[in-house]
Amino acid sequence: MNLQTEFLIVGAGIVSLTLAKELIHLGVDRVLIIEKESRLGMHASGRNSGVLHAGIYYPPETLKATLCLKGNKLLQNYCREKTLPLHPTGKVIVARSDKELPMLDTLYQRAIQNGARVDLIDEKQLAEIEPYAKTSQKALYSYDTAVVDNQKILLALADDLIQSGKVSIHFDTAFIHRVNDYTIQTTKGPIQFKQFINAAGAHADKVAHAFDVGKAYYLIPFKGIYKKLIKEKSYLVNGNIYPVPNLRNPFLGVHFTKSISGDVYLGPTAIPAFGRENYGLLKGMDSEMVKILWQQIKLFFANPTFRHIALEEPRKYSTSYFFHDAKKLVKELQSDWLTATPKAGIRPQLIDVTKKELVMDFLILKENHTIHILNAISPAFTSSMAFASYIVNHYLKN
Ligand SMILES: Cc1cc2nc3c(=O)[nH]c(=O)nc-3n(C[C@H](O)[C@H](O)[C@H](O)COP(=O)(O)OP(=O)(O)OC[C@H]3O[C@@H](n4cnc5c(N)ncnc54)[C@H](O)[C@@H]3O)c2cc1C
Repeated sequence: MNLQTEFLIVGAGIVSLTLAKELIHLGVDRVLIIEKESRLGMHASGRNSGVLHAGIYYPPETLKATLCLKGNKLLQNYCREKTLPLHPTGKVIVARSDKELPMLDTLYQRAIQNGARVDLIDEKQLAEIEPYAKTSQKALYSYDTAVVDNQKILLALADDLIQSGKVSIHFDTAFIHRVNDYTIQTTKGPIQFKQFINAAGAHADKVAHAFDVGKAYYLIPFKGIYKKLIKEKSYLVNGNIYPVPNLRNPFLGVHFTKSISGDVYLGPTAIPAFGRENYGLLKGMDSEMVKILWQQIKLFFANPTFRHIALEEPRKYSTSYFFHDAKKLVKELQSDWLTATPKAGIRPQLIDVTKKELVMDFLILKENHTIHILNAISPAFTSSMAFASYIVNHYLKN
């Protein structure tokens, strides 16, 4: 294989597919996407909670705040247009004690500033929406949170791209290294391009470094494991029940989500992992483990937020600790109603190595004719269509 293309995109996750769609709108005729796996959705875009978030948590000046709600609307419209599963369930955020009420008010203010449709509700109103949810005095209700089938969305987008005749997706084709400014080497041979987009998810920092871009950043993996409620108890949850999160932490805390199939999942955790694809206990650990561990150790001593996550989250490997968190959100819950599930995802979190800080917003770096999308963390699935449009407007239009 010795290919040439106008635009080359590495990775075929949601970020890449929505970007390719935007490029076609822009009038681009030849886009080639390379994906190291043999099919779509093997990593974050196919392993997430399938929740379309609704612009609540994010500080108003951030990209997350600007793009989440727009993305939510665009993806909801896309699901309707393609008759893909869409459950506009809404979501409640509950306070586990009176101490969390000021933070609930902060979330309400943020949500309003971001243009989200939310209400502060009392316990009686909460009982009408989620009869088994627990809260302390008040809860926050988000009208526009919805649940989707992420795999079906990926397949529909890929189908649109192929049907356009302007995009091809090459599976089992991994980026290996940069040969020169306009050529890369892949496992299937060299590819020449005019413009390059790095949308490699958990590997995006390595691809960027191959172009001498973003050397101050490194992605470290956090493992999200889930438990499932036994089928007979699915009635305990109608939509989404989330706790008040710690806003210094990029993760939202263990929550309940009723998936498109009707199964209720609890999770995900955010356990520091030892490989970018370390989905099992040992599976997915590789030669990079030592480097990842070293970054985690440095962060543990330098960064209190990471230290807190590293001390708290691994305990959730135990069902009893998982249950300890979950029972604060739902009444009558019993530990033997939680079952193990193979559902697990890895959330790659960008670290600014120089400042020893977690990067909290999406980050895009452009260098000449190359664009690198780093830190496409949650809610990047929700935001994807708006994110893609933002990238094209800000970085590719003259
Ligand atoms: C457990 C979990 C729960 C989440 N829940 C939600 C949620 O409810 N709502 C929400 O909005 N977001 C959620 N997210 C976040 C969301 O899933 C991600 O932000 C989003 O999927 C990122 O998309 P992506 O395209 O950047 O990455 P990916 O989907 O990981 O795609 C990157 C692709 O690049 C490929 N690739 C990597 N390296 C190479 C290479 N060298 N050569 C070729 N291909 C390569 C990979 O195989 C992969 O397919 C969640 C994430 C996780 C892990």
